[in-house]
Amino acid sequence: ESLVRPGADDVERAAEAALRPRRLAEFVGQKVVREQLSLVLEAARGRGRAPDHMLMSGPPGLGKTTLAMIIAAELGTSLRVTSGPAIQHAGDLAAVLSSLEEGEVLFLDEIHRIARPAEELLYVAMEDFRVDVVVGKGAGASAIPLALPPFTVVGATTRAGLLPAPLRDRFGFTAHLDFYDADELEQVLLRSAGLLGVPLAGAAAREIASRSRGTPRIANRLLRRVRDWAEVRGDGRLTLAAARAALEVYEVDERGLDRLDRGVLDALCRRFGGGPVGLTTLAVAVGEEPETVETVAEPFLVREGLVGRTPRGRVALPAAWEHLGLVPPHEAGT
Ligand code: ATP
Repeated sequence: ESLVRPGADDVERAAEAALRPRRLAEFVGQKVVREQLSLVLEAARGRGRAPDHMLMSGPPGLGKTTLAMIIAAELGTSLRVTSGPAIQHAGDLAAVLSSLEEGEVLFLDEIHRIARPAEELLYVAMEDFRVDVVVGKGAGASAIPLALPPFTVVGATTRAGLLPAPLRDRFGFTAHLDFYDADELEQVLLRSAGLLGVPLAGAAAREIASRSRGTPRIANRLLRRVRDWAEVRGDGRLTLAAARAALEVYEVDERGLDRLDRGVLDALCRRFGGGPVGLTTLAVAVGEEPETVETVAEPFLVREGLVGRTPRGRVALPAAWEHLGLVPPHEAGT
């Protein structure tokens, strides 16, 4: 399992949960989103009503789940968690909805993957706080409307653009989470080191931050690997040297690229001459699902100016060739 990929095992999940900020004030960075959220929450608290449904959008590991938990905590209510892939039938969703209590927050992770038949049900539930329970089968079937108490859906998606417009329109506001800058990641790391009780040197925090692809989850994960290294190979202190040595072991390079990222660049440059190449072809070349390449590797590679997206496919930008120590073809010919 790669260090910088989602889908980590249970141990990693538990380690992650321990480092989650519990309140909005503890949440580092994302100033705009924090401001928007605190307004929505304060207004709802003032009215004593459940706030509008909210959509969290952005690449993996930037804090969507964390924010959903914070929203429930700040409202003093409980969080119910489910996800798009878990809802394959309308009945799955009806069961969750009809068990909601007043004011609860329903977190729907990967909401863009919810099954079509359940979507309709969700629209009605979000709009009218009602679920139509179908009883009987075939011609004799009838729908019995069941009123739901007011609740708040917090949806999370890595691809807001993929949501059907009617679903997107039912959210009162969308929080766009963006990659964190190095200073913010440094704060995340120092906070985490404090919680873990490990001595993290400032220079080491900066080094880890600069290789964390703008992502708190990756920063925390790298921190735990540096701690492993320091405890097993070093003297327990998380120094700059320990950070560099650990990151080398885990093949995270100076720019924070991991094996998958470098695999994508390598395929793009060496196998496809710099592109343009379609997403699916590229994914096959690196042995990954197109969705993984598109949501995990690509946003960062694009943001770093290594890969470009064109209507005809993905292209390697000059920085990609440079990063791999290669000469772009048009320069090689001159
Ligand atoms: P995914 O959609 O892949 O589950 P996510 O966007 O929901 O990702 P989270 O699970 O919320 O991401 O965050 C990943 C980890 O990063 C959390 O365990 C948390 O410790 C840390 N984290 C995220 N955002 C912040 C933040 N702003 N401040 C401090 N820690 C953060």
